Amino acid sequence: MLTQRMEKLITGIPKAEAHLHLESSTMPKTVIWTSQKNNIQLPFKTEDEMLKYLKSKTTSLTEFLICDRLVNSCLIYEEDYARAVYDLAEEGYNQNIIYREIFLDYPLNQVRGVSLETYMNGCEKGRKKAQEDFGVEIVFIPCVDRTVSSESSLQFVKDLLKYRDIIDGLGMDCDEKNYPATNHKEAFELAKENSLFLTAHCGEDLGYESVIEALDSLKLDRLDHGIRAVESKELMRRLADEKIMLTTCPYANIDMTIYKDLSKHPLRELMANNVVCSINSDDPPYATDLINTLRECITAMNLTEKEVVSLLRNCFEYSIKGQRYLEKFDKWIKENCEE
Ligand SMILES: [Zn+2]
Repeated sequence: MLTQRMEKLITGIPKAEAHLHLESSTMPKTVIWTSQKNNIQLPFKTEDEMLKYLKSKTTSLTEFLICDRLVNSCLIYEEDYARAVYDLAEEGYNQNIIYREIFLDYPLNQVRGVSLETYMNGCEKGRKKAQEDFGVEIVFIPCVDRTVSSESSLQFVKDLLKYRDIIDGLGMDCDEKNYPATNHKEAFELAKENSLFLTAHCGEDLGYESVIEALDSLKLDRLDHGIRAVESKELMRRLADEKIMLTTCPYANIDMTIYKDLSKHPLRELMANNVVCSINSDDPPYATDLINTLRECITAMNLTEKEVVSLLRNCFEYSIKGQRYLEKFDKWIKENCEE
C-alpha cells in the first residue's frame, strides 16, 4: 500500500536506475530547445504537447519506434547530445537518483549521418557537467541494434572501443522477433575481451527461450526486462543461482501493452522465486518517471516495504559501478526505516 511512510521511502532514499535509454528518454525541454535551434519541424510546439503526442502514439513497438525516430531527429550536434544527457541527469537529480546507467542507441543517430565522435564527445561533455552540477553519476552502455548483421555489430563494437574510457558496458535492444541474439556473439565476445559489462534486452516480446538463447550465446552479466523468464521454473532457478539481475520496467511493459495492467505483471512472481530484480522507468516521456513507476507498482502489486527496499538496493548492488553508494543507501534505511 502506498502509505505516507512508503512515499517518504521512495522519494527520500538515494536511488539508482539501470534501465533507461537516452534516445527515448530525451527530455521534452531538450527536444523543444534542439528543434528550435536546428530548425526541425515537429507535430508539437510545447513540452506538454509533446508528452500528449507521445502518449497518444505509443501502443505498439512499431508506433513507439516511429516516435523515437521523430524525437531523435532533433539531435545533431555535440552540444545537443551534451544537453540531452545533462537534462536527463537533472530529471534524475529531481527524483534523488544519484547513479544512472544510460543506454545509448547510437545506431538511430548513425543512420542520420551523426558521427560516433560527435555523439560520444557530446555525451561525455553532458556527463561531466551533470556530475559537477547535480552530483549524479552517469554510466554509459551503448546498445547493439539486434536487427543488424553480425558484421555490423562487430564493427560497431570495434568503433566503440576508441571510446573505451567513456563507456562501461555493451547492451542490445530493438526487435526480438526474427533476430536471434546469437547473431551478435562475436560482437559481445570482443566487448568481453575489453572488460565491458554485458547486458541485453530479451524476454519481453518473446518467451523464456529467448532469454536462454541470449544468456547462453552472449554470456550476459544482466538481463534487461527478461520478465518472461517467469515462464520457466528451471530458468528462474538458474537466474537466482547465478544472481543475474533483471532490470524490469513494469510500467513501460504495460504502456507497450505486453500485460493488460500492472497487477498481471510477473515481477512479484520472479521475486518470489528469488530472481534478483530492480525497477526502472525505461523511457519516462513515453511511460512515466521512476518514482511514479514505483508508486504504481506498490499500489497495483501490493509490494511490501521490504520488497521495495530490496528492489531499490539491488539496483546499486548489481550495477556496473554503483556499489560504492550502498553505504549511503543503508545509512538512510537505518535512520529512517528501522524503528
Ligand atoms: Zn529498454
